[in-house]
Amino acid sequence: MTIATNLGYPRIGPRRELKTALEAFWAGTESEADLRATAASLRAAARRGQQGAGIGHVPSADFAFYDHVLETAAAFGAIPEGHGWDGASVPSLATIFSMARGAPDVPAMEMTKWFDTNYHYIVPRLAAGQRFKLVWNRWAEAVAEAYAANIRTRPVLLGPVSFLLLSKTDDGSDPLALLPALLPVYAEALRGIAQAGAAWVQLDEPCLATDLSATAQAAYPVAMRALADAASGLKLLLTSYFGPMRENLELAASLPVDGFHLDLVRGAADLEPALELLPREAWLSLGLVDGRNVWRTDLRAALGTARRVAEAGFGARLMIAPSCSLLHVPHSLKGETALDPALRRRLAFAEEKLAEIAALARGLDEGEKAIAHALAESDAVIAEAAADARLHDAAVSARLTALTPAMESRTPYAERAGLQRSALNLPLLPVTTIGSFPQTAELRRMRAAHARGELSREDYEALLRGLIAQSVQWQDEAGVDVPVHGEFERNDMVKYFGEQLSGYAFTKHGWVQSYGSRCVAPPIIWGDVSRPAPMTVRWAEYAQSLTDKPMKGMLTGPVTMLQWSFPRTDIPREVICQQIALALRDEVVELEAAGIKIIQIDEPAFREGLPLRASEREDYLRWAVACFRLSAAGVRDETQIHTHMCYSEFNDIIGAIAAMDADVISIETARSDMELLHAFEVFAYPNEIGPGVWDIHSPRVPDAAEMARLLRRAAERIPVERLWLNPDCGCKTRGWQQVKPAVENLVQAARGLRAELVVPA
Ligand code: GLN
Ligand code: ZN
Repeated sequence: MTIATNLGYPRIGPRRELKTALEAFWAGTESEADLRATAASLRAAARRGQQGAGIGHVPSADFAFYDHVLETAAAFGAIPEGHGWDGASVPSLATIFSMARGAPDVPAMEMTKWFDTNYHYIVPRLAAGQRFKLVWNRWAEAVAEAYAANIRTRPVLLGPVSFLLLSKTDDGSDPLALLPALLPVYAEALRGIAQAGAAWVQLDEPCLATDLSATAQAAYPVAMRALADAASGLKLLLTSYFGPMRENLELAASLPVDGFHLDLVRGAADLEPALELLPREAWLSLGLVDGRNVWRTDLRAALGTARRVAEAGFGARLMIAPSCSLLHVPHSLKGETALDPALRRRLAFAEEKLAEIAALARGLDEGEKAIAHALAESDAVIAEAAADARLHDAAVSARLTALTPAMESRTPYAERAGLQRSALNLPLLPVTTIGSFPQTAELRRMRAAHARGELSREDYEALLRGLIAQSVQWQDEAGVDVPVHGEFERNDMVKYFGEQLSGYAFTKHGWVQSYGSRCVAPPIIWGDVSRPAPMTVRWAEYAQSLTDKPMKGMLTGPVTMLQWSFPRTDIPREVICQQIALALRDEVVELEAAGIKIIQIDEPAFREGLPLRASEREDYLRWAVACFRLSAAGVRDETQIHTHMCYSEFNDIIGAIAAMDADVISIETARSDMELLHAFEVFAYPNEIGPGVWDIHSPRVPDAAEMARLLRRAAERIPVERLWLNPDCGCKTRGWQQVKPAVENLVQAARGLRAELVVPA
């Protein structure tokens, strides 16, 4: 019989209950027992819900208080010094949260994006010669917890090779060298899991969908042999996702496991070769339901694929699954009463995806008739979407057809720069900020009151104008050369624009965990994108009217708008991005017409869109760069275009970043102590750059001397006349008590440096 399975469930809760509980615990208003009770009831509800939906293999240990990679490291005793762990006992919640968020005398561990998702994991930090010890069998615990509730679950265990590939060592040595030390601990974990009563373990090895080094390839057979030896009766499901395994498929097929999961959404290309390569006695888990997007599955097509596999000789040992964990989609459509009904019919969030999985498993076993209703509904919705004229905007297609290369290019930077210099008349090392100023509790309260209809539009906007006026006056007094209006009117840098663009839809509760207690509710792009009216012009115009300095207009770029949304799948990502770029281009041109001489187009998600496979990167960079240029290049030579990115690790894509041809780019560098300088050893960035000299992620305010020290280091590599002084990122999460002194220090640092770093004539 085909088994309906799941690979992981959203852990934050349908109403972000985990977020509320975590934040209450951190604030000291709830006890550890309260937090643990909330977590246990969320797990119980998830188990019941999945079982009730007809899932046979319900996952366990997919829950984590902050992050499952962090908990895996902690369970194996890979806990760096300073987090209050005694070296032997089960790590406390205090230790886990200290690793994740830092404590007064120890910084937080590094956090980075989980593959190409917007979920962040804590990077395990391993000592050279790290010793591992199973100090917490969190998987066996999870199995036992479910068992006590009469559910036999399948625990999710991040596999040893991926675990090491995602880790960093203190001395920069290859973490895979630690495999022999790690395997006995995995073996012990598996024995405990078997004892707790599990029949299967889901062994996540998503690195199989990436380019593997020879060392990594060699590590897999060693690792899986050791695990298979330890498993004694426990069945191992080797689980890869986020793309095709491609050349790694043969390697995977040779491993001594009992089953293989295939991501047949992003990795559909694996299907035919897998049917050739995989042993017929193996179980096959078919990831037919998209775990990375919110659209309903084409059930008839998916059933066809499943049948194809059954007929190829795997019929007796099939599982139906989502392509990857459902962690990356919102919980349930139930509360989404405000969505357009036609759109709502086309969507499936985690809960609805479970029903699809169960239907497919049943259809495969009992035939189409048994799921006739579900199939008919799926067919109808697909036909309705295909015929929905609202998805297509003739004006948008006409503009796309009329695109010319000239629309993406500006006069060469060297020529523009001179014109901008005389138009803007800025000093050496101009001081600016990244855009946002503190989103205070008061401001959030007012926005919420306005949304509820308790504060009139006039009153809300008067409040915003007041905040803008105060901030502009303060920036003038402080001596900021290029002021910003402060982004007080924005709830979120993607949502604010999406709400004003056609083609976008928003959920009420469509939260997805980003890191720890932080969630995002990505908008849904369901139709052609266009801009019915100006979005930011009146705010920028108002701010400019208050000062003689050039006010910097502020927009979110096309790549970021796409990357932080759930995109439609009926047209290529590249085309969606072009549509957004054209809408933004109109806004840019209109800002210019309104007298704005400097416009920043933020692209913080530019790098995270980079495909996992090196062979696909060039194509992505080609269209991503072209879309940015399309959004920017409608302006006169005198108008200065800025962009901003929130990271410094762009050494490998610096050529593409230069090709974006922004006049000025600001980036994060303070925390990494000007790590960007490495990129400039091999690549001379041609335009202007503002390497961040104040890490806004930390409440610490650096003094002018420290900022000047960082800037001097940058000046060793970049001509000083092309340098700017700015923070690392926007100030929205900081308080004014930090922002004011920090910006004043920036100005002081600039004044000192101007006297010191004289430009050769
Ligand atoms: N302009 C935005 C801000 O200042 C940029 C935010 C970001 O890079 N994530 O908040
Ligand atoms: Zn940023």
